[in-house]
Amino acid sequence: MLLFRLARNKLFSMISIMSYLRGFSVSYRVSITRVDVSIDLAVERAIELIGGITKFVKKGDTVLIKPNLTRVTSEPHVCTSPDVVRAVIRLCWRAGASRVIIGESSPVGVDTEKAFEVTGMKKGAEEEGAEVLNLKKCPQVIVEVPSGRMLKRIEVAKPVLEADTLINVPKLKTHCTCLITCAMKNIKGVLSDASKRELHRLGLYEALVDLVTVVKPKLNVVDGVIAMEGLGPVDGDPVEMGIVMAGDDPLAVDVVAAQVMGFRVEDVPPLRVAIERGLAPKLEQIEVLGEPIERVRRSFKRPEVDLEKYLKCVEIYMPRACSGCVGTIMNVLKIFEKSGELELLRKYIIIAGPIEESEIPRVAGKQLILFGNCTARYRELGLFIPGCPPRIGLTVPTLERGCITDVEEERYLRRLKKNGE
Ligand code: SF4
Repeated sequence: MLLFRLARNKLFSMISIMSYLRGFSVSYRVSITRVDVSIDLAVERAIELIGGITKFVKKGDTVLIKPNLTRVTSEPHVCTSPDVVRAVIRLCWRAGASRVIIGESSPVGVDTEKAFEVTGMKKGAEEEGAEVLNLKKCPQVIVEVPSGRMLKRIEVAKPVLEADTLINVPKLKTHCTCLITCAMKNIKGVLSDASKRELHRLGLYEALVDLVTVVKPKLNVVDGVIAMEGLGPVDGDPVEMGIVMAGDDPLAVDVVAAQVMGFRVEDVPPLRVAIERGLAPKLEQIEVLGEPIERVRRSFKRPEVDLEKYLKCVEIYMPRACSGCVGTIMNVLKIFEKSGELELLRKYIIIAGPIEESEIPRVAGKQLILFGNCTARYRELGLFIPGCPPRIGLTVPTLERGCITDVEEERYLRRLKKNGE
């Protein structure tokens, strides 16, 4: 009788009833819409399904929209689409926002202002009457993390804290260390570069979960129009998904996103940690509105961080390296493999990421390759490849010489200076 009454009540969808039967109360809502007519309509409907824009943006609000600008590129599967952001901006104006800012602090080593320009985000935002803001250049405020297990305090860009509403607009992508990157991981881009490095140094998965306990977007709108599979978050392949997702809880959004990409939630390390800590909902606690997951699900190619394959030839030690160095090293290894030169790396140990001197493996007969600026302080110990991540690359001639040539280094430094890094 009770079930009959629930079924008649439009507020309860089938999924709610199933959850009720399993003993879970549904307390999260995530919507999925298809881009059939336009991105604008898909974004509007996704937000409408979870309560409409006026639930999140009030008259007179200053809104800060945080896209994902992870590289200086116009490739549509790497960064958040400017069209998705444009649609969100229009809705904010419609809700009566007084100021809309598109704020980003791209990964360490990536020029945020160039990323704004090359992705088309700056042009799109300005045409919609919004401002773009490089959060790296803003004053940073120290924020305590009271329930942090790894992070005790972080540096957050001041405009993020001053905004009335933070809207997180991530891209749906695979990630070489976290398996997926979506709402939770995108929040990292409100931090100073120093805090981003600290996250990796302390242990990315726990630290990301710590971060979402203090930086909470009111709304998350996922750009799943052209997603990424394989070696994400920058070197993967495009996937035409044609969807938009929305939800008010970043962890609930990521739980659904993992399912949409064909992954088990517990295989996504930061989500697994969040679930263990009782912070992320189970799928059964989430009401999925709009398109059912089964109708949009696609098995994404995993990021091929198939280190096992390479570890037979090369010793690699990068326990806390971020995706910049992990992705670049994987690409370097693939290039060596393709040219049949992987064996050349047998006499080396590659080290990347923030590590302590006591952790550096020293093996008789093996030379060290110190990959990336995190290892710069040990540069005297072996072949140092500068960059964050290195863009000169690790090549056979570099190995043969045992050093980066002055010309290469000079060219590299010039490029850094030109980019203002
Ligand atoms: S040097 Fe490499 S591991 Fe260190 S912050 Fe830069 S990209 Fe990440």
